[in-house]
Amino acid sequence: MLEIKSLHVKLEEEGKQILKGVDLKVGPGEVHAIMGPNGSGKSTTSYVLSGRDGYEVTEGEVLMDGQDILELEPEERAAAGLFLAFQYPVEIPGVSNMTFLRTAVNAQRKARGEEELSATDFLKLVREKAKSLKIDADMLKRPVNMGFSGGEKKRNEILQMAMLEPKLCILDETDSGLDVDAMKLVSEGVNALRDGKRSFVVITHYQRLLDHIKPDVVHIMSNGRIIKTGGPELALEVEHNGYADLLAEVENA
Ligand code: ADP
Ligand code: MG
Ligand code: MG
Repeated sequence: MLEIKSLHVKLEEEGKQILKGVDLKVGPGEVHAIMGPNGSGKSTTSYVLSGRDGYEVTEGEVLMDGQDILELEPEERAAAGLFLAFQYPVEIPGVSNMTFLRTAVNAQRKARGEEELSATDFLKLVREKAKSLKIDADMLKRPVNMGFSGGEKKRNEILQMAMLEPKLCILDETDSGLDVDAMKLVSEGVNALRDGKRSFVVITHYQRLLDHIKPDVVHIMSNGRIIKTGGPELALEVEHNGYADLLAEVENA
């Protein structure tokens, strides 16, 4: 599904090397968590996957279903089935959530060579998805993310994800700023989208999110690399001992 091979990335402007050889393989239906200290390159990894400007890939590949996505435009990546939920969802004044979703869904269908959804079909679909995620119909009419609480923004991202039916979802610190109840809602939303085929990469600081979204594999990232990979117990270890022991262990190896 996703294969990152020896990904090296530097900042275009400053020339600073941020990623120093990231390797990651995510199979269909798998949920992987990436944890690690602040500044280790977790967000940079997700930005590079999304195709954001300002980063230069100096070495390595990112394959989705065997296709190198680094050569694709951001919208082509989305059409290929990649979805990213960011740490800070953008607010879009003047554009209703409904219009935004319809535009996104139809752009994606077009890129896939499918016909646009009719207004009726779209409405039916969005209402059904919103309902299953316990999202108030009122939230669909409001401008995208404007005045939404942290929890509402996150739930809204899950709705976008549900509408676009991606193959691979990357969630970057979706838990930051969420209270326990909101975290549970987001987790339930994600879990509802797990279907044995769709894959997830969940970037998080907190083990507690992983109590709700149970990962198959946990990776620890530090200084631009994945330094350790394990099962869910690795997240618990980090929660109890912090990163210092792990980092020392790797340095001494
Ligand atoms: P994480 O998400 O793991 O906290 P980031 O990927 O956000 O880490 O950052 C990795 C490193 O790259 C940090 O040292 C950060 O300061 C630096 N960095 C990332 N983007 C920029 C940028 N646009 N300008 C300057 N430094 C950056
Ligand atoms: Mg950070
Ligand atoms: Mg980050």
